[in-house]
Amino acid sequence: MTKQKVVLIGNGMAGVRCIEEIIKTSPDQFDITIIGSEPHPNYNRILLSKVLQGDTSISDITLNELDWYAENNITLHKGETATKVDTKKQTVTTDKQQTIPYDHLIFATGSMPFMLPLPGADKDGVMGFRDIKDCDTLIHYAKTKKKAVVIGGGILGLEAARGLLNLDMDVTVVHNEPYLMNRQLDPEAGKLLKKKLEEQGMKIMVHTLTQELTGKKHVSGLKFVDGSFLEADLVIMAVGIKPQVQLARDSGLSVNNGIVVDDYMRASAPNVYALGECTEHRKTVYGLVAPLYDQGKVLAKTVCGVDTKPYEGSVLSTNLKVSGVSVFSTGTIVESDTSKSLMAFDDWKGTYKKVLSENGRVTGAVLFGDTSESTLLTSMINKKANIEDYLAMQQSDAPAVSVTASMSAEDIICGCNGVTKGTICSAIKEQGLASVEEVKACTSASRSCGGCANLVADLLQETLGDSFDASNQVKPLCSCTTMSRDEIVDAIREQELTTTRSVMNVLDWKTEEGCSKCRPALNYYINMAHPTNSQDEKESKYVNERLHANIQKDGTFSVVPRMYGGVTNADQLRKIADVADKYEVKLLKVTGGQRIDMFGLKKDDLPSVWEDLDMPSGYAYGKTLRTVKTCVGADFCRFGTQDSIGLGVELEKRFERVSTPHKVKMAVSACPRNCAESGIKDVGIVGVDGGWEIYVGGNGGTHLRAADLLVKVKSEQEVLQITGAYFQYYRETAEYLERTAPWVERLGLDHIRDVVTDPEQSVALIARLDVALAATVEPWKQVISDAQIRKELYEVAAPALTK
Ligand SMILES: Cc1cc2nc3c(=O)[nH]c(=O)nc-3n(C[C@H](O)[C@H](O)[C@H](O)COP(=O)(O)OP(=O)(O)OC[C@H]3O[C@@H](n4cnc5c(N)ncnc54)[C@H](O)[C@@H]3O)c2cc1C
Ligand code: SF4
Repeated sequence: MTKQKVVLIGNGMAGVRCIEEIIKTSPDQFDITIIGSEPHPNYNRILLSKVLQGDTSISDITLNELDWYAENNITLHKGETATKVDTKKQTVTTDKQQTIPYDHLIFATGSMPFMLPLPGADKDGVMGFRDIKDCDTLIHYAKTKKKAVVIGGGILGLEAARGLLNLDMDVTVVHNEPYLMNRQLDPEAGKLLKKKLEEQGMKIMVHTLTQELTGKKHVSGLKFVDGSFLEADLVIMAVGIKPQVQLARDSGLSVNNGIVVDDYMRASAPNVYALGECTEHRKTVYGLVAPLYDQGKVLAKTVCGVDTKPYEGSVLSTNLKVSGVSVFSTGTIVESDTSKSLMAFDDWKGTYKKVLSENGRVTGAVLFGDTSESTLLTSMINKKANIEDYLAMQQSDAPAVSVTASMSAEDIICGCNGVTKGTICSAIKEQGLASVEEVKACTSASRSCGGCANLVADLLQETLGDSFDASNQVKPLCSCTTMSRDEIVDAIREQELTTTRSVMNVLDWKTEEGCSKCRPALNYYINMAHPTNSQDEKESKYVNERLHANIQKDGTFSVVPRMYGGVTNADQLRKIADVADKYEVKLLKVTGGQRIDMFGLKKDDLPSVWEDLDMPSGYAYGKTLRTVKTCVGADFCRFGTQDSIGLGVELEKRFERVSTPHKVKMAVSACPRNCAESGIKDVGIVGVDGGWEIYVGGNGGTHLRAADLLVKVKSEQEVLQITGAYFQYYRETAEYLERTAPWVERLGLDHIRDVVTDPEQSVALIARLDVALAATVEPWKQVISDAQIRKELYEVAAPALTK
């Protein structure tokens, strides 16, 4: 029997997913041909933001390798564009002059970035962000251009901006609305998001309308409607999408904003269908993948002639894919006269939640900071669940039941890749999968934004019961490798790997250059394991650490000289005042760590500033010991029984400069009144009758945590010894970027106490710490004395900087 011919125009996410469904539903019914303009096999467009941010690589985002097309007898015309469709003769012609007959034709031509028709928008350096080519161009631009402006503060714009920041560009987001992501968030969440992104170094202008792009051939800046001007040598427009419908329109199909389809995804000509971003269903054009997968399932059944429920539209959910920022929004988030909302704002934890209901049903939600309820709320909205049920869950004292337990097989677990609970559970059973990584490789669940990895773990637990050991899951360091942190550190030690390049080569890294997650981590692990025979690789460090100063919103830097124990003197203060005058410091601010922060310094002034100050670096930018805060203690305070300042200064001098997985803060108070806030420090010392108490794992930041009492000791000498062993054990066993608070919780206080109080282990730890300490150098002095570093990093060519 001759097979019917299915032709798909558009080798993108929606079309290929539909073909996968067709093959699943009716494996041998069709001869399938796919025509795709891009020269690549089908890839995960969503992950382009992650590629730009350096978290993954182009090679890692392919969804269907060329082998898949061959194995399924699919003829793929890649790098070829369909230019004409004859709906009477039922043929498609391409730009390579091939004419391909069809019995069923599917349009999945996607969309293009919408480019604002501004004067100057055609200049070089002005572009959208849609495909691999754009991603490559941006990475290339970032090597020579420095000032990027992203027009549009929606998801795509912010993800692109974060990527460009990671590529060391100075990035400003220009948004016309009063707050970011205004289509997905409410003003409160938008405000929190702005603050969080600004903390990451992004500059953000809201309520700002661009009038014109300036420059000769290449863009040089933006003129705004209010008359102001912003310099730029790269401009990305991320203001929306424009469905690619010209071919459909020329073919005589009914087209509004998208190709008009009915509830079975049928377009206006016989045997012609459409899905994806090029499609308009019930007056809606979707710009996210989850609806496209729903459409694909219905369309596959329509093409195969199998009974199907109609497609009735989708509830949209969005996750922002920017590291360190958790934002989720789903359903209707705009309040109406008849809606009711439940709101919770926790300034301490930096979390915000709004859940909306209409006629007693959950209809929408916005989550900021903690998005753990995202799947629960999406599922409740889809099921039109009663808000009372949600409220009851919130008030219940019963331990939280896993969200997945209440989900049906049809419920989507991975929104990015449209993977259902049923698919994952069947794969676990049928393929014998035992880890999140295996589920990811087999089903694509959690492969994109990774937000559903916890749910996948819950499903493994639910399906495998006691044989699933969540703690035993190998968590790869990043998507460049399948190896865990511990496996990599063992290999670095055993195989004497002393550069990031050698680690990547020997351990078969999937990417050539690594990513922004693994490179700094590897650099840290190598230096920790081989302190005397490895180099600190500047190119593998974040910008603040590379430049030994903190970059600020306006591109200037702040500098904090070290004042041991928070103690200073008239001579130091005079020097700081002179430097402040000479270099026109914009703000002098006393920090929470009892130091003086000098804001508004120019990058090329930094080496001279440090030379004039003639004080050590305070490491306010570093992953190392930052400050030891002290109370005034026995010399002056009438409650003090101990010399807190003396001990604080000694601790700071003993442990300064050596690198740690994350920043470390210490404090010494001379009595339990605790004026130096020892209870919220990584290491907090408190003077008590007969000695000192050592507290550990405290944190006064976003994740507030009271420190735990590690031990009580009698002498300062013992404080230094226990703290040294603790400090080195943290250096050796924590994951890069893990603060001591989660580290203490992960390893357990009792275990840490056993190690650091064990005489043999503690002596060995301190010996290794001493080797690492001896290998450190004072970074500001090094910059002052090294003309090459000054030239490379601070753009200072003049040699004479020494006194
Ligand atoms: C950087 C980025 C991040 C994103 N992040 C998210 C996210 O986090 N969550 C989410 O849900 N969505 C996200 N999206 C949106 C998501 O990628 C799209 O919704 C999805 O890719 C649309 O699929 P599609 O198949 O309709 O279009 P596409 O994936 O664009 O595929 C269409 C394909 O058709 C080809 N084509 C067009 N015309 C022709 C022709 N005449 N002949 C041959 N080929 C043709 C195009 O070249 C293209 O390859 C993101 C998009 C981008 C760009
Ligand atoms: S902690 Fe005690 S000793 Fe130190 S300043 Fe406060 S009251 Fe005085």
